[in-house]
Amino acid sequence: MEKKQFQAESKRLLEMMVNSIYTQKEIFLRELISNASDAIDKMYYRSLTDEALEFDQDHYAVYIRADKENRELVIEDTGIGMTKAELEENLGTIAKSGSLAFKKENELKDGHDIIGQFGVGFYAAFMVADEVTVISRSVDSEEAYKWHSNGTDGYTIAPTEKDTVGTIVTLKLKENTEEESYDEFLEEYRLKAIIKKYSDFIRYPIKMDVTMS
Ligand code: ADP
Ligand code: MG
Repeated sequence: MEKKQFQAESKRLLEMMVNSIYTQKEIFLRELISNASDAIDKMYYRSLTDEALEFDQDHYAVYIRADKENRELVIEDTGIGMTKAELEENLGTIAKSGSLAFKKENELKDGHDIIGQFGVGFYAAFMVADEVTVISRSVDSEEAYKWHSNGTDGYTIAPTEKDTVGTIVTLKLKENTEEESYDEFLEEYRLKAIIKKYSDFIRYPIKMDVTMS
């Protein structure tokens, strides 16, 4: 198991997400679904040049699963996946992220509506979760890896098992406090409303499953 630190700029953004007082925390779902959709797009583009890959439309979807008892929300996709190096590069540093726009703007302005204006990307997950696990297997690899972080003190990467190409993001939702409740992100009607609001344009099916235990 390797324990690594986030790149300094990522850490700053992450801290902002962890301590977010932003009222529209719901946009985390927009970010994660758009990443899932981008990953499926990449599979599609790959299939145009790689004859071994067939893009069977029926196979490509985004799955949302809420587990109320364990307070977990899962966003899974059958997209292109990430290698170990890509997990580190993409989730450990800010350089490639849509978050870059956010970072630049943030040096000029102060205010949390910036979060709504720009994609803050993957780290938005930390507005609602205190633990994030990403299990991914790349189309270019036989191996799968598990990335795990409980916020600003870094992340770990370890080998894991996954039979199919794609990515599974699991959020362990924050405990409710007197001021904030996160339970709503386990409710089917709420999740549906968020998806309708932000992800109507997603070209792939979004399938949902909510379990009580
Ligand atoms: P952006 O989407 O603007 O690039 P993000 O912070 O949302 O920024 O994501 C960073 C990168 O992590 C993405 O560019 C992509 O390479 C990778 N990534 C995130 N989620 C996934 C996913 N579900 N499948 C494959 N790659 C992903
Ligand atoms: Mg993104």
